[in-house]
Amino acid sequence: MLKHVTLLPVYIAANGLALLAVFAGESYGWLLLSVLITLTIITIGSFDIRLGYFTDTYFKGKESQNKLIALSFDDGPSSYTPEILLLLEKFNARATFFCIGKQVHKYPQLSKEIIRQGHTIGNHTFSHLPHFGFMNARQVEQELRDCDRALLEVIGQRPCLFRPPYGVTNPSIARAVKATKHHVIGWSNRSLDTVITQDAKIYKRVVKKLRAGDIVLFHDTSVHTVEVVKRLLPTLKERGYTCVTIDKLLNLKAYED
Ligand SMILES: [Zn+2]
Repeated sequence: MLKHVTLLPVYIAANGLALLAVFAGESYGWLLLSVLITLTIITIGSFDIRLGYFTDTYFKGKESQNKLIALSFDDGPSSYTPEILLLLEKFNARATFFCIGKQVHKYPQLSKEIIRQGHTIGNHTFSHLPHFGFMNARQVEQELRDCDRALLEVIGQRPCLFRPPYGVTNPSIARAVKATKHHVIGWSNRSLDTVITQDAKIYKRVVKKLRAGDIVLFHDTSVHTVEVVKRLLPTLKERGYTCVTIDKLLNLKAYED
C-alpha cells in the first residue's frame, strides 16, 4: 500500500517542477493540476482509515477465520451502554468499546462493568474534540495519554488499541501513535448509526455488506444503535457468526502487560 512518506518526495518534485515551469513562463495550469492531485490524494488518505496511508492500521480480520465478527462501539460509555451490554450478554457476544476518557470519568462503574462482562476497551482520546484532525502531534499524544490515564485509574489497565475520532489519520496522529505505541484500529463495515435515523436502514446497511472477519462500527450513544443491535444479534447467531473482541479477531494484545 502506498504511504505518505513514500509519496512525499514525489509531491515535492512534481510541485517544484510545476512551480519552476511557471517561473520559466509556462502557464499556471500544470501547477494547479499538481497541487490539486497532491491535495486530493492526501485528503483521501486522511479520511479512509483502511488505506493505512499515514500509519499502519488494522480494519479487518481474515475472512477464513471461523465466521468471526467484531462489533465495536465508539464514544461511550453513555446512558445507552447498559442496554447494549444486556443484549450482548443475552447472545453471549463479546464486543470492543472505544471509550472517550471524559466519559470513563463520568461512568466509572459502567466502564468496569464492560470489562467484567468480557468485552475489550480501547482508547478513543480523552475529549474527542471536533478539531482532532487539526491538532499537532504533541496535542494528539496528550489526548491519547490522558485517555490511557483515565482508563488506568478506572479499569486498572492501559489499552493498546486506539481508534482515532472520525477515523481520521494524518502525520500528527502517525507521530503520536509511534510514541504511545497504540495499534490504530479502523473498520470494514460502517453502520452510519449517527447519520441515518431509520433503524431498519442502518440494520440493512450492516447486514448487506457483512463478511466474516468484519469490524463493524457502531456508537453506543443512541437509541437507534440499541434497536439495530437488538435486531442484528439474532441474525448473526442465525448465520453462524461468533462475535469476538477486536484483539481476539486480530490476535493483538488488548492491554499493556
Ligand atoms: Zn468517535
